[in-house]
Amino acid sequence: MTSPATAETITVGVLALQGDVREHLASLTNSGAQARAVRRVVDLDGLDGLVIPGGESTTMSILAVRDGLLEPLRAFAASGRPCFGSCAGLIFLADRVTDGRDDQQTMGGLGVTAARNAFGRQVDSFETDLSVPSLGQELFPAVFIRAPAITEVGPDVEVLAVLGDRIVAVRQGGLLATAFHPELTDDNRFHRYFVQMVAEHRRAAPETTSK
Ligand code: GLN
Repeated sequence: MTSPATAETITVGVLALQGDVREHLASLTNSGAQARAVRRVVDLDGLDGLVIPGGESTTMSILAVRDGLLEPLRAFAASGRPCFGSCAGLIFLADRVTDGRDDQQTMGGLGVTAARNAFGRQVDSFETDLSVPSLGQELFPAVFIRAPAITEVGPDVEVLAVLGDRIVAVRQGGLLATAFHPELTDDNRFHRYFVQMVAEHRRAAPETTSK
């Protein structure tokens, strides 16, 4: 879907403190972006967008604080450059977290409350076909692994998908988040959707990309 010209110019980072980084890098590359891992503050330079992978949000918080990345990540999102978080990445983007560690930090920016491990132990992991109208009629194969749910949304948040009475995918301007793991499937529609968001932002505000 992404044009070859876009593929040459859009660079997306994947926060590589912890989690399923490689799978996101592959999905982004398959969606026409250049993708690279972000481990240090300097790695944020020149990125058009950023993915926060699935993994363990409490560990991600500890490592981001240890490595001095928390404030630079907040500044990255505040610059308007798009960010996409899956599962633990959703939690890391959320303004509020329930059932987290007391000292758990998030990047924030996404005006939602994320409830950790909201699907309970008996269904720690499952796959289900979700309706995501923004991606077209075909259902999306959603892999949930100790997944959070979104229990409150602010006024600017667009709900992209629900599972029963739980919100499991949202967008707020340049922020995209899923409670499940699109990177663990061959269906790249969420990554292509994100790369389009990044391309649109880049066209609208080219000066925010490089320092
Ligand atoms: N339960 C994890 C957390 O709280 C998220 C799990 C995942 O990313 N698959 O961070």
